[in-house]
This record gives sequence, C-alpha cells and structure tokens, in this order.
Amino acid sequence: MSKILVFGSINMDLVVRVSNPPQPGETILGSDFETFPGGKGANQAVAASRMGGEVTMVGRVGNDDFGDVLIQSLVDDQVKTASVIKDPKAATGVAMITVARNGENTIVVAPGANYQVSVEDINNARPLMREVDIFLLQMECPLETVETAIELANAYNLPVVLNPAPAQSISPSVLSSVDYLTPNQSELALLSGETDIELGIKKLLSWGVRNLIVTLGHNGARVVSEGIDQHIPAFEVTAVDTTAAGDAFNGALTVALAEKKPLLEAVRYGNAAGALAATKRGAQPSLPTRDAVEQLVKIQK
Ligand code: ADP
Repeated sequence: MSKILVFGSINMDLVVRVSNPPQPGETILGSDFETFPGGKGANQAVAASRMGGEVTMVGRVGNDDFGDVLIQSLVDDQVKTASVIKDPKAATGVAMITVARNGENTIVVAPGANYQVSVEDINNARPLMREVDIFLLQMECPLETVETAIELANAYNLPVVLNPAPAQSISPSVLSSVDYLTPNQSELALLSGETDIELGIKKLLSWGVRNLIVTLGHNGARVVSEGIDQHIPAFEVTAVDTTAAGDAFNGALTVALAEKKPLLEAVRYGNAAGALAATKRGAQPSLPTRDAVEQLVKIQK
C-alpha cells in the first residue's frame, strides 16, 4: 500500500442549492441546505484513501462539535488523524457554498483553526516525512507553513504534489521546489500573472516548475513536463456538482504517482476521479472509490 502524507485544511461545508449564483448586493432564495465534511486538505486525504492509499493527515480543527464530526469522518474513511490538532481557541473552519443549477459553484471560506496551523506543527510531522512515499498539500493554510513543509519534504527527498488552491501568489522559488504542480486555469492565471494559458505555462516553466498539470474542468487536463506536452481529455459524464472535482483529481493523481505509475497514466486516474466526483453532490460524499475509477479508466480508453 502506498503511503501518503496530506497537509491541509479541514472544514465543514455548508451547502445551499441555487438557480443562479448570487450577485453582490443580491438576496436570493436557495433550497436543500446540507452540511458535508470538506476542506481541500481533508477532501484530498479522503480522495487518496478511497483510491487505496494509506493516508496520514496533518492539520487543525477547533475544539467544537464540527471538529469532532470532521475527525470522526476522516477516521471513518481510514485516514490517520493522530496529527490533527484540536485548536484550543479557534473555531473549526467552515466553507459556505452555493451550487447553481448548471453545477457551477461559489465558495466563501472562514478558515478558523486552519489558519492556526504552525511551523511547529509541520516540524512535528518530520518523522512522518521519513515514512511516506509522497506528500500532498494545498494552500488553504498559512503560506509560511506551506513553504516550510515543502522545504522539509525536499530535505527528506520526499516527492511533493502542490495543488495551488485557493489561488494566491507564491514565490517562483517555492514553485520550483515542488515536483508536481496542479493548478486549475484560474490558479494558473494568478500564479503566472498571465491570462493566456500558453503564456502562463511558459512562465511557470521558465521559473523551473518541473511537472505542470493544469486541470481544465470538463476539458480534462494539460500535462507539461520534460519531453511531454499533452492534453489528456476528460471522461464523459453528466456533471451535477463540480465541488471537489479538483480534490478528487489530486488525491487520485497522488496515489497513482506513489504507485510509480507514469505521469500521463496518473493524470488519467486524476481525470477519472474528477469526472466521477462531478456526477454527485457535495465534497467528500462525491469522492469515488478505487473500483469506480478503475472501471471508468477501463471503459473509456
Ligand atoms: P477545480 O475543481 O480545482 O477547479 P477542475 O474544475 O479543473 O478543478 O476539475 C478537476 C478535474 O476534474 C478536471 O481536470 C477533469 O478531469 C475533472 N472534471 C471536472 N469537471 C468535469 C466535468 N464536467 N466532466 C468531466 N470531468 C470533469
């Protein structure tokens, strides 16, 4: 079993269905309020676990009801939570999500305990870095901790997958210390300062990014790596809610890479997991199992 360390956010998602996304200043009626365990870190940990990885999570929740529910839900998905700290002061992070009829979403995150994750927490995870095959992280925790975590992983020669989400600028030197970088199109634009995708890719490569995987929603993914520049088409599905499609993609990609699958094949696993996640509502409930992903990869060549 491949061993995966995930560092990142743990949130409760508060989801309302709407006809169209709300505009600034507008009050609209929604329906079907639901709560789901979420947070990019926890989602990607669960995605990797359902893909058959042995996953350990590092992060923080609050000392409150949402925190208890979220830790239990990670445990229920076989994610190891001994390194998830209950912050004594900050509340558990929440994300307020609207999902429109066409499947598009809007998200506001109140990070709470996720922003109390410290460099010390990362230092305490050093022994884990020696034991695992790959390290997966995002940017929903303080950037300082993300950067420290990447530096430490480099020191242990541990391959790093960085999903640079939510979009924010990060120094080129950090990006070049990452083994696999997985922005979606808007994150690519923000990181590179270029709205044109080709210019954005060129800029990141000029900064020394080694394996760039740009996720393109229903268009699949673009892989640019040494000697490779390839578009990998999406799997055809009926999308009802794209929440966590990117998280499913990153979890599946990371497990496949930990299993030493070639990059393009690993991206196909990511595409399949992302497509399956888009066929179901919510974040973690929509993350697919290994069997479902294998089946889709086999059916749609
Ligand atoms: P994010 O959720 O981070 O914005 P994307 O929207 O790019 O990321 O989705 C991640 C991956 O999920 C895509 O690369 C694609 O493989 C898959 N995916 C997303 N939406 C769809 C869709 N409507 N149909 C098929 N695959 C999808």
